[in-house]
Amino acid sequence: SMAVFKLENVEDLYEIGEVLGSGHFGQVRAVQERATGVRWAGKFLKVRKCASSRLGLERRTVEREVEILQALQHNNIMALKDVFESRAEVVLIVELISGGELFDFIAAKESLSETEAIDFIKQILQGLSYMHRKNIAHFDLKPENIMLSDKDIPLPNIKIIDFGLAQRLPEGGEYKSMCGTPQYIASDMWSLGVITYILLSGMSPFQGETDEETLTNIVKMNYMFDDFHFRETTPMAKDFIQKLLVKEQSERMTAEECLLHPWIKPLTRKEAASRSQSSINMKNFKRFNARRKWKMSYNMVWACTRLSRLQLLCKTRANEDEELRQCESDQEDTENNHRASLIRRRLSSS
Ligand code: ATP
Repeated sequence: SMAVFKLENVEDLYEIGEVLGSGHFGQVRAVQERATGVRWAGKFLKVRKCASSRLGLERRTVEREVEILQALQHNNIMALKDVFESRAEVVLIVELISGGELFDFIAAKESLSETEAIDFIKQILQGLSYMHRKNIAHFDLKPENIMLSDKDIPLPNIKIIDFGLAQRLPEGGEYKSMCGTPQYIASDMWSLGVITYILLSGMSPFQGETDEETLTNIVKMNYMFDDFHFRETTPMAKDFIQKLLVKEQSERMTAEECLLHPWIKPLTRKEAASRSQSSINMKNFKRFNARRKWKMSYNMVWACTRLSRLQLLCKTRANEDEELRQCESDQEDTENNHRASLIRRRLSSS
């Protein structure tokens, strides 16, 4: 079996601090390791206790997130240190990421050259390339999930977070989608195309007047580089995006291919120079980012990533047995008594 259980309480080992963020199923809080004084982040996830309940996550879903994080040890991916669990809650002790979201960091600047933007995109690509080689797809790549380790240094490190929707594909990766093309990594690459498009122009590529129009644009892969918003963008950058925002999934560049694209890895000095002389559309990017904070304009684009993940899930779930559980009340445990019963789960790799 995967894990050895040990009776230890999270609060015996860590002092729980302030809330850093929250998601659908719980909070992320700063924690401090009592033995060393080192600061980490604790992701507290509510676990569902009966199949029919809508509160909390299925334990299996949480276990998948843990197993995936455990398999990923890369400088551009949030590291997992420890896991505690009780019947009602799972706590992931992870690397503390204190630089905030990449988009907020950029929006606070006065200008950003393509070269500087590329440095960030390259780091995202290195993280993606690493996880894809391990047959893991993130499936929820969006601006909120791209953070920086620290913002008070000249070249901050990208950290990809939130593996709550990530999937591990069977070894030997013979996964075929309904249309017969390898699908799982294509969704992350599409998301990266959208992120790059937005980063350079401050525009969302498929955004229509209405959600319906946006959806039609996505389905038809209907987008363009309008001269107004892309007036400073290099042709190389557009070529890069164009090779990601392709309808046919098998024709999208892989992360490995992206890292070799001349926009990311220039072949000549002329190519390198044109990148440093071009800059992102900062005025429009700031506007996009401010609106993003209000959750208005871009959700639809990311909803489509989830859609392609759903199609994949339908395929993989068909073979799994749905286990039935005894239904118990989710209100049963109070905050205090389930916290007390949290036990530590030793990671098999450590
Ligand atoms: P969602 O419901 O959006 O999928 P989630 O419950 O899976 O979210 P995360 O996205 O992992 O939770 O985290 C929620 C927020 O907490 C993040 O947007 C981020 O602001 C903050 N956060 C997550 N991980 C860390 C970390 N390691 N260090 C600092 N802050 C973090």
